[in-house]
Amino acid sequence: MPIIKFEQVRYNTRKRCKCASCGKAVSRSTTIIKTVNPFNKNADGSIKTRAEVRADCDKEASKWHTKPEWCKDCNEQRSR
Ligand SMILES: [Zn+2]
Repeated sequence: MPIIKFEQVRYNTRKRCKCASCGKAVSRSTTIIKTVNPFNKNADGSIKTRAEVRADCDKEASKWHTKPEWCKDCNEQRSR
């Protein structure tokens, strides 16, 4: 069996925001990883190109940027 390696698109992004509870400065970073593969298709059935997969990462990143975040202390309180 040959090993099929799909091309990976890695997208690193970071944000600085305020804790949704106490307003303390919070910084977060994330890595969005997507692969260019035959199952990742456009609505018209064509396989997504690297640029199109990258555009998906962009969309996901902007969603992540609008997500509220909590500082460590508030996170602890929230999980209690
Ligand atoms: Zn907080």
